[in-house]
Amino acid sequence: MKKIISAAVFVALMSSLCGCSEQTAGGFNDDESSGSIESSGQIASTTSSSSAQSTISSSSAESSSQVASSQSSSSVISTASSSSTESSKSSSKVASSAPISKTSSSTSKPNVDYITPGEDFDGITVSNGKAVGINENAACNEIIIEKGGVLTVNGKIELLGDLYVEGKLEVSENAEIYGDGVIHVVNSFDDIDCKGTVTAKIDAPEPVEIDGVTYVGGILLVNKEYSLPKTYGSGLSDKVTEAVREMRKDSGFSMQIISGYRSYATQQATFANWCARYGEATARTLSAEPGHSEHQTGLAADITSIYTVYADTEEGKWLAENCYKYGCIIRYPKGKTDITGYIYEPWHIRYLGKSTAKLVHDSGLCLEEFLQLDARE
Ligand SMILES: [Zn+2]
Repeated sequence: MKKIISAAVFVALMSSLCGCSEQTAGGFNDDESSGSIESSGQIASTTSSSSAQSTISSSSAESSSQVASSQSSSSVISTASSSSTESSKSSSKVASSAPISKTSSSTSKPNVDYITPGEDFDGITVSNGKAVGINENAACNEIIIEKGGVLTVNGKIELLGDLYVEGKLEVSENAEIYGDGVIHVVNSFDDIDCKGTVTAKIDAPEPVEIDGVTYVGGILLVNKEYSLPKTYGSGLSDKVTEAVREMRKDSGFSMQIISGYRSYATQQATFANWCARYGEATARTLSAEPGHSEHQTGLAADITSIYTVYADTEEGKWLAENCYKYGCIIRYPKGKTDITGYIYEPWHIRYLGKSTAKLVHDSGLCLEEFLQLDARE
C-alpha cells in the first residue's frame, strides 16, 4: 500500500477527518461574542450593550487601570447630570480642540454629549460614567475611552492617533473609522459594537490562558498551537445553530450542518485512526490532533459539503460573502494555509458574534492575523 496521497484523496481525507459526528444541540452557554469570558480581571468587561443613554452606572470606585496616563493633550469630556438643560448643552458642543467641560462630578445618570466638531480634535477622553457621541465627520488625534465610558460614532472618523477602548465603542451603521491610527482593544472585543465600518488597524490584547483555555480579547482561540483541555466542551452552541438557521432562511439554500461539536475523545479516536493508517507525520497534515480541533469549542461547524469545490457553488459563495452578518467567519480562508495550518475550508465556519465577525471580515485577515498572534512569538 503506497502512502502517496493524491489531491483528490487528500480532499476526501480532509473531509472525513473533519468528522461527521452529528452535532449535539444546545448545552453550550456562551454569550454573544462566542466564548468570551467575564471572570478574569484581564478580560472582564462591562456587559452593558444597550444604548449609550441608559447603560452607564456611575460607580464611584473605579478600579480599572488607566489606559493611558497622559491626558495632557486630551479634552476631558464630562457633563454634570443636569437633565437636558440648555445651559449644559452649550458646554457639550465643541469646536476645535477646546475642552468641553471640566466637571468631574460622577454622580449622575449619563447624558450623551454630542460633539459637533468644527475642526479636528486634538484628543478626546471619555471618562467613566460618560456617554459621548460624535455625529459628524471628524479627524481625531487620540481618543481614550476609559472603563465605564461610552463613545458612539455616528459619522466618519479619521484616526490620526490611537484610540484606546477600555470602555465601550459603538460604531453605528453608517459610521466609519479609518486612518493610520490604531484601535487598541484593552480588554475584550465585546467592548466594540460595530455595525459600521472599521478599516483602521485593530490591536488585540495579549492571549490569556484560563483553565487551560486561551482567549485573546475574549475570543476563544484554538489552532495548531493552542489547544483545549480534554474535558472542554459540551455540544454545539445555540449561537451556531441559530446563525445557520437564519442564514438558511435568508439565503434559501439548504445549509446543512454536517459536523458541529466534536469531543476530545472523538478527535482522539479519529486522529489515532489516521496515525494507524498513514503514520503520525502524515496524519498530522490531515487532521487536527486531539484538543486542537476547533469543533471541540462548540463554536464551529462544517456546512453542507467538505469539498473545496463548495466554494464555487452558489451556496458556498453566499456563505463566504454573508456569514459575517450572522456572526460567523470562514475560519480557514484561501491563501492563508501558511498561517492557519489548514487548507482552504470554504465549509468551515466559526462563530464570533456579529460585531467581531464584521471586524474580522472587514479586515480581510484570517483570525490568527487579526489577533496578531505571530507578532508575539
Ligand atoms: Zn470543520
